[in-house]
Amino acid sequence: MLSRGASRFVFPLAAAAFITYDRSDAFDDTTDASSSLGNFLRKLSTAASVSTSGRCGIERWLELTTFSKFDSSNAKFDSSNASCDEGAGIEVLDEFPYFSHWHRSLMRKHLSKEVFEELKGRKTSNGYTINDVIKSGTACGYSLPRNMGCMAGDYESYQIFKPFFDPVIREYHDFSPTSLHTTDINPTHLKSVPDLDPNSEYVLSTRIRVSRSISGFPFPPASNRRQRRLVESISKRCISRLTGDLKSTYISLNDMTNAENDDLIQRHILFDNPNEWAITAGLSKDWPDARGIFINVEDVEDTPDFIVWVNEEDHLRIMTMKKGGDIAAVFEKLARGLAVIEEGLKEEGHSFLHDDHLGYVVGCPSNLGTGMRASMHVKLIRLSKLSGFDQMCVRMGLEVRGKHGETDKAKSGIFDISNRHRLGFSEIELIQLMIDGVTELVKMEKKLANGEEVDCSEQFQKV
Ligand code: ADP
Ligand code: MG
Repeated sequence: MLSRGASRFVFPLAAAAFITYDRSDAFDDTTDASSSLGNFLRKLSTAASVSTSGRCGIERWLELTTFSKFDSSNAKFDSSNASCDEGAGIEVLDEFPYFSHWHRSLMRKHLSKEVFEELKGRKTSNGYTINDVIKSGTACGYSLPRNMGCMAGDYESYQIFKPFFDPVIREYHDFSPTSLHTTDINPTHLKSVPDLDPNSEYVLSTRIRVSRSISGFPFPPASNRRQRRLVESISKRCISRLTGDLKSTYISLNDMTNAENDDLIQRHILFDNPNEWAITAGLSKDWPDARGIFINVEDVEDTPDFIVWVNEEDHLRIMTMKKGGDIAAVFEKLARGLAVIEEGLKEEGHSFLHDDHLGYVVGCPSNLGTGMRASMHVKLIRLSKLSGFDQMCVRMGLEVRGKHGETDKAKSGIFDISNRHRLGFSEIELIQLMIDGVTELVKMEKKLANGEEVDCSEQFQKV
């Protein structure tokens, strides 16, 4: 089922246990096979037993979390103030949530008691409430300050819960409630792109992904089984229109073994299984049903450079990725694929959900606007060790992740450098920012390699 025809995707059992990606991992040099579907299901059942046990299991939650940078040995939780619903576990949803000092998301910052009181009686036509909006930020005890801690369930959420979302969007994107967003997905508008890394020493790979919602359906946190399956079948019909170098095959998560699932994740082709944040946001419902990926190769052993994720965090995440730093080629292919899928959606009576103010509208407010993350995996072994590195990247309009994505601790010295902004800048502007930023970072890394000094604290004005 994985590739067309009879060639099923099979691993020798021993290889599944010690996956060493020396054959087809396009982007990697090390491996960490910790994220299988089995691990996820085990975690989920432990998480479920925590929440139904009736105890305020914050330490248990923390044991389960995979969020990085948290040292639980120094953490103190003052349980004297904590409200833990007793009895059958029915939550009292018209009361303001309890926040510990670990709740550091943007939701926690902007959800005042007054706003909660104003919004608690409201519902979207899909039945989404303010408690649904904030559940990823209230249920997970610990969150990083930049975590959003909130998700919209549908397009209406941004209107109905506007007094909450507007300040969150303003802070994250520096974008006012009356501003208009500009879309520009025309690759010919990109200025000439310098060769960032002529000797291929620093830039390992380039990926651009966009988040998209299909109009007429609630977003994944609010989708039911039927809606999710409809999104999957519409996607299949639209994506079957792709031809030539974009022609793609669908692989359903339902049909994958653990080993196949792990392999695709490790090769950066497939999304990870839900972590605690995704579970609490409501993204893991019925997992793995109606989730899957399209890849533009017939045999999964080959490396695709055009990929579409279905029903992960968004209805669709559409991406291209290639070895090296040729961002112009990556963008051109993405734009071509997007145009064909959009055409298909039109014929189905749908579209990519878009709004003059919010741009492409999706569940996570951090992805509004372009929904785009243009990233390069860059070797910054020396520069990343300097104090002030992270803050300097923020000033440059860049986000730094580990090479295995959002929750990776990046011990390898290889970082995922991407555009930090998504809303209020066009696709072209953001790609340019990323190119300029990576060019500077590579220059600095080279200086350090030559024994010169670099001071991160002095560099660059805020974008
Ligand atoms: P997003 O949320 O933008 O889709 P994640 O941080 O969740 O991205 O990462 C998803 C997957 O994409 C991970 O396997 C990650 O390593 C991979 N990835 C991201 N950027 C690149 C890149 N430039 N090259 C190769 N793989 C990448
Ligand atoms: Mg992600």
